[in-house]
Amino acid sequence: MAIRIEGKVISGIIKDEVKKSVEELKNKGVEITLAVIQVGDDPASTVYVGNKKKACAYTGINSKAYNLPNDVTEQELLALIAELNGDDSVNGILVQLPLPKHISESRVIEAISPKKDVDGFHVQSAGALMTGEPGFLPCTPAGIIELIKRTGIDITGKECVVVGRSNIVGKPMAMLLLRENGTVTVCHSKTKDLRAVTNRADILVVAMGRPKFIDASYIKEGAVVIDVGIHRNENGKLCGDVDFDSAEPKAYAITPVPGGVGPMTIAMLMKNCVEAYKLQQTL
Ligand code: NDP
Repeated sequence: MAIRIEGKVISGIIKDEVKKSVEELKNKGVEITLAVIQVGDDPASTVYVGNKKKACAYTGINSKAYNLPNDVTEQELLALIAELNGDDSVNGILVQLPLPKHISESRVIEAISPKKDVDGFHVQSAGALMTGEPGFLPCTPAGIIELIKRTGIDITGKECVVVGRSNIVGKPMAMLLLRENGTVTVCHSKTKDLRAVTNRADILVVAMGRPKFIDASYIKEGAVVIDVGIHRNENGKLCGDVDFDSAEPKAYAITPVPGGVGPMTIAMLMKNCVEAYKLQQTL
């Protein structure tokens, strides 16, 4: 049986580490504050924002919530971001995505100060990741590196295959695996023989947004399989991009959905808030 990589447990450990760092900073008179902006009342966004506020409360990070109406203008949102950029008591700024269609997500992301970009989506953060400069790492791929390392798996020299090339998961994932000395291949919808490529993977990260697409036939015997996908079926049950029951017997280690990659994203956001304070002392 494969090792189940328990993101729920590992994310709990990371949140406790963050809590300790926040306590130590508090003892030195430093408070960490995250500003969370939500536009509109999309139910999924409300759940995500609620979970982020809960994680802040647990770790001792102050959260400042801004709920803007769905018809807020881009200018008004940019003005709020400019105000928060200039507020020294705010360490991190997070704008919950997606935004309503009349607002440009890229203009909003680029408006956040790179010193406060705790989601790690700003081009400066992406460039820093590429060149190895100090900067914020996007939470989901950074969480996956923690999952792999804390399961005792060495990435150095391994064949790593990432399925998906989005700016928030696939591309930064590939860069982080490269930084850890993996030999990295990135696949996408135009990849000619996906199965042949994934079958080379010692470490396979799947972020394609296709429910249960990756079954045992895509997996090399003894591979580490990381499933980023999140889907809800008609009965409300969650599943990933990997067909867990088919893949698990062939894998050395595998993440479940739920309870795998998902909980890591928020834990890494909390870690980035503490990093924000440290970066603000240097950048
Ligand atoms: P995107 O839709 O932005 O990207 C999907 C990628 O998969 C694209 O690069 C696409 O290729 C590729 N792809 C799609 N179909 C195929 C195929 N048949 N063969 C090969 N490649 C394919 O998704 P995201 O990266 O934003 O998210 C991926 C999944 O991860 C989603 O299920 C999402 O919900 C989940 N997610 C989970 C998070 C978590 O915290 N656990 C956080 C973020 C996302 P191309 O570029 O050619 O179109």
